[in-house]
Amino acid sequence: DWGRLQDDLNQIDGSQYGAYKRLLGTYKHVQPEFALSIDHVQGDAYAAPSRVRAIMPWQETGLPNEYLESEVRKIALCDFVTRVAADFIRSKHLERNIGNLNGGWSGPKGGAFNINAPGQEVLPRTSAMISGDGTIELRFTTTLPAAGRTVLGQQTYQILGVNLVDLVRQSLLYANIDHLTLQRHVQSVEKQRVLRNQLAGRGLIAFIANGSTLPRASGSTAFPMEQSQAVPFRSPKEFEITLELPDGSNVGGMGIPCGITLLTGGGFHGKSTLLEAVELGIYDHIPGDGREMVVAVSDAVKIRAEDGRSVSKVDISPFITDLPGGKDTKRFSSDDASGSTSMAANIQEALEIGCKTLLIDEDSSATNLLVRDRRMQSLIKKEPITPLISKARALYSRLGVSTVIVIGGLGDWLSVSDSVIAMDSYVPKIITREAKEVIKQYPRMLAEHGHYGSTPVRKLSVHLTGSKPPRALRKNFIAVRPQTSNPVHDPAEAESGVDLSGLDQLVEVGQSRIIALLLQRIANETASNP
Ligand code: ADP
Ligand code: MG
Repeated sequence: DWGRLQDDLNQIDGSQYGAYKRLLGTYKHVQPEFALSIDHVQGDAYAAPSRVRAIMPWQETGLPNEYLESEVRKIALCDFVTRVAADFIRSKHLERNIGNLNGGWSGPKGGAFNINAPGQEVLPRTSAMISGDGTIELRFTTTLPAAGRTVLGQQTYQILGVNLVDLVRQSLLYANIDHLTLQRHVQSVEKQRVLRNQLAGRGLIAFIANGSTLPRASGSTAFPMEQSQAVPFRSPKEFEITLELPDGSNVGGMGIPCGITLLTGGGFHGKSTLLEAVELGIYDHIPGDGREMVVAVSDAVKIRAEDGRSVSKVDISPFITDLPGGKDTKRFSSDDASGSTSMAANIQEALEIGCKTLLIDEDSSATNLLVRDRRMQSLIKKEPITPLISKARALYSRLGVSTVIVIGGLGDWLSVSDSVIAMDSYVPKIITREAKEVIKQYPRMLAEHGHYGSTPVRKLSVHLTGSKPPRALRKNFIAVRPQTSNPVHDPAEAESGVDLSGLDQLVEVGQSRIIALLLQRIANETASNP
């Protein structure tokens, strides 16, 4: 049947590019046995690349069945396989860059395979998937080569008939995979799940293992700082706990308790770095990341001010009431929210979908939503904002929502916190007792509110089956083009989009794609039954 691929390509060689469409469908390969499914063929050489899948029976891979035993193992295995494929493709591209003619792996005439290259997080993705029917599949895109506007049959055979087979062999056959690295990868992910699952039972919202490397190599990369430069994480005695791992071993580290926790310390002492590690602790990390033993409860949400965001019918009344002009804050809408209203909306939206831990950094907050000091309280009487400091206690006691907040300069927060952690040259110290002394010395009348206010529940039900994801432009920006208008003729529409750059917990472009897809679905469903 693989011969048919060659025959088909010979037949269309030199035809118009559109003849590639005849390849749509399935070709069977033997040794190793797999099916090549050509699902989408690009319209011309410059269009978005073609999409292909290689589907192999599980038995054929030789992979041990233990990797099928749980959902977590399947996700970790598929993540690993995607990384092997991505590395193999990258190595082939590098070979070409150093001048090797590498048989159509990439080039001006096409051929470059592409697979979603994963970052530091282990996520369920569609790039590699195990199906219920006992198969594992890899999904790629590739550009089918052209000479001018005509098909290049022989080159395409090199790409799909030869190179792709090589790629499938390297990434799916156990014989070619480093057994130990795979095993460590899967075990690490399993450990992270086990650690995360122990948090709630121990009254914790996060755990940071001793020895973790939290800082990144630079502000623009997710790779860890060099071991020789980074100060390894070390828990203060007071918060040190030991969690158990599946293999019976123990891991020690700092547990951040539920309630209101202040992360403080001097500037540049590592506060934000610790908070960022907790933010991403909702995900599992690859071994070697440095944060692979840092876990947070999965309903922890990073909250920040997003000056200029649009807000649509969100109840921000716990924080903001009596806006000038009588604007309704129980159903607040704005195309250009302020720092404080955007932050209030972000908190309420997080609570609506069930967030139980707010993660906040003073660096990226609207100060007037966090606190209002006594002088401002007496000077400005017409203040529509009730700051979070007056609500944080009620949030926890009434709704069970914890807050972890990085505070450098707003000492009023000391009065509402259960625990105060100070970062001192990247080493955390517990200073809750010292903080209590300071409060006695400099007391303040805090207007605390006994109850939080309204928290509506938001439920989205969107049907995903059989839909094709739209392409996100960048990791953090989704272009939204209403179907009815032509962006070319309407500059205002062409500019419209959804800016996701304020969502610090999005780590891969695939996540933006699924969000784009969901938004499109919601828009379509709303349009069809308004
Ligand atoms: P803060 O929020 O307290 O001002 P940051 O978390 O932004 O401080 O950290 C300041 C700098 O210190 C950053 O460049 C960061 O990469 C670095 N850093 C943070 N933690 C460590 C560490 N454990 N070891 C070495 N450098 C660190
Ligand atoms: Mg900071």
